[in-house]
Amino acid sequence: MTEHDVLYLRGKASKVFQEGERVTVWGVDTLTGLPVEVEADLVVLATATVPRADSRELGRRLRVSTDEHGFFSEAHPKLRPVESLTAGIFLARRGPVPQGHPGDRGPGQWGGGQALRLFSQSQMVQEPTIAYVDTELCSGCGLCIPACPTRRARCDEWRNVAVVNTALCQGAVAPCTMVCPNKACQLRQPDARQVLTMMEAYL
Ligand code: SF4
Ligand code: SF4
Repeated sequence: MTEHDVLYLRGKASKVFQEGERVTVWGVDTLTGLPVEVEADLVVLATATVPRADSRELGRRLRVSTDEHGFFSEAHPKLRPVESLTAGIFLARRGPVPQGHPGDRGPGQWGGGQALRLFSQSQMVQEPTIAYVDTELCSGCGLCIPACPTRRARCDEWRNVAVVNTALCQGAVAPCTMVCPNKACQLRQPDARQVLTMMEAYL
């Protein structure tokens, strides 16, 4: 589209190079599929956004996963976009892709608001379906400890049994329960007898 001597092209640049005083841009018009060559006095590039060099190390310490580029990963891109998989750690930052200043501000405020909401409560609310260890069955093999992605299980060296941090355990898939050879690590949830009792009461 040409209007007031301004040429708008929706395209992709493939190469920008200098020849004498002029800068040449090669690319393709993505609407027509035709190659484009533009000679310009000045080329302004949208610079790449990269994570901090130490983001992976920080993620490792906080137990927050990072993507292949080193950006922190959200728990779910649509349902929990400002939460990390580690309870209590929020991502007050830009969205999953650079969106410009107005678009980035929303997730930043949202993540900060989530953290404030935690501090405004007089009591923490925990999901009931968290893991526990039956110490009578636990052999202290330690298999459940590396299985926990957020390191909520640890070994009580004095008693030689695993213990779960019930305030921080997030339940859900609970890989700690899957690796336990003694079925000592279990999720707190209604067992078959309790479900049957509830059904009887309902019927
Ligand atoms: S359920 Fe198990 S794996 Fe999941 S957070 Fe709790 S201790 Fe860790
Ligand atoms: S895997 Fe099971 S038996 Fe081994 S330490 Fe954990 S709870 Fe105990």
